[in-house]
Amino acid sequence: MTEENYIPTILVVDDMAANIAILSDLLKENYKVKVANNGKKALELARGKEKPDLILLDIEMPHMNGYDVCRELKSSSNTKDIPIIFVSAKTSADDEEYGLNLGAIDYIKKPFHPAIIKIRVKNHIELKLKSSKLEELSMCDSLTGISNRRFFEEAYEKTYKEVQREDGTLSVIMIDIDYFKPYNDNYGHWQGDVALTKVARTLKKSMKRPTDVIARYGGEEFVVVLKNCEKEGAKKMANSLVEAIRELKLEHKHSLASNIVTISVGVAFKEKESNLTKEELLKEADEQLYRAKESGRDRYCASF
Ligand code: GH3
Ligand code: MG
Ligand code: MG
Ligand code: MG
Repeated sequence: MTEENYIPTILVVDDMAANIAILSDLLKENYKVKVANNGKKALELARGKEKPDLILLDIEMPHMNGYDVCRELKSSSNTKDIPIIFVSAKTSADDEEYGLNLGAIDYIKKPFHPAIIKIRVKNHIELKLKSSKLEELSMCDSLTGISNRRFFEEAYEKTYKEVQREDGTLSVIMIDIDYFKPYNDNYGHWQGDVALTKVARTLKKSMKRPTDVIARYGGEEFVVVLKNCEKEGAKKMANSLVEAIRELKLEHKHSLASNIVTISVGVAFKEKESNLTKEELLKEADEQLYRAKESGRDRYCASF
C-alpha cells in the first residue's frame, strides 16, 4: 500500500456542502478525496475496504457529531489507526483539548487558511504512510519475505475470536522442513537460506483465499490458519502443500526421507461450537506434525 505511486485517500466529513467543496478543491490535486455529509456515512466509509489515510472531521453535525464519530473510530481495532484531524468552528481551548483527548491527531479551527490546511495534511499523511510502512515491516520476516510470528499471533487471535463469534470452523496447519539440519551441514547455511526462502514462497503461493494466513513460525517451521474451511478442505490444503514442496525438486542428498527437500505437516481442526482453545488447537497441530515425522516424514497427518 505504500508504493511510490500510491495516492493517499482523505475522507472529508462535514454537514455543509460548501465546506466539503472547499476542502475537496484544496486536496484533490494531491489526494483521492472521499466525502461524507454525516457521521453515519463517515463511519461506513472509514470501515470500508479501502480505508482513508486521514480523516478531516467537522464537529457540529446533526444526529451524530464529530466527537461521536471519533470515539467510534478509536474504539475499534479496525479503524483506530486512521489519523483524525478535527476541522471545527468551535474555537475555544476547551473544545480543542476535548477533541485531542478523544484521540484526534490535530485540531484546525475554522475559518482555516487554505495553505496551512494543505501543509498540515501533507505532514500528517507523511507520518501516516511512514508508520504504516513500519507496521508492515514489523510483521514481515526479513529472510523469506512472508509474514512473521508476530503477524501470526495477531492474526490467529483475531481469527479465533471471529470464528467463536460467528460460530465458524478453524483449521491450523503446522509445517516443518524434513532433515533441514543435515541440509545446512552439507550444503552450507547460505544455501539453506535459499532453500528456506523457496519453500516459504511456495507455501505462500499455495494459499487459496484472502482469509488464509501463512507465516514463518520460527526456524524452518511455518504455520497456516484457515478460517471457515471444511474438514476435507483442510486436509486437501495440507496435501497440496506437501506436493508443492515435492514439485520444487530441491536436491537433498542427505535427507533420510527422500532425495529432495520435503516437509512434514500436522493438521488440527476446530468444529463449529467446539470450545477448543486456540492453544489447544495449535498443540493438536503440533502433535499431528510429530506423528507425520514419526511415520516417515514427507506427508501430512490429521486426527480427523
Ligand atoms: P526433522 O526432519 O526432524 O525436522 O529434522 P531437522 O534437521 O529439520 O530438525 P531440527 O529441528 O533438528 O533442525 C532444524 C534446523 O533448521 C536447524 C537449523 O540449522 C535450521 N534452521 C533454522 N532456521 C534457519 C534459518 O533461518 N536458515 C537456515 N539456513 N537454517 C535454519
Ligand atoms: Mg458542521
Ligand atoms: Mg524444526
Ligand atoms: Mg525440521
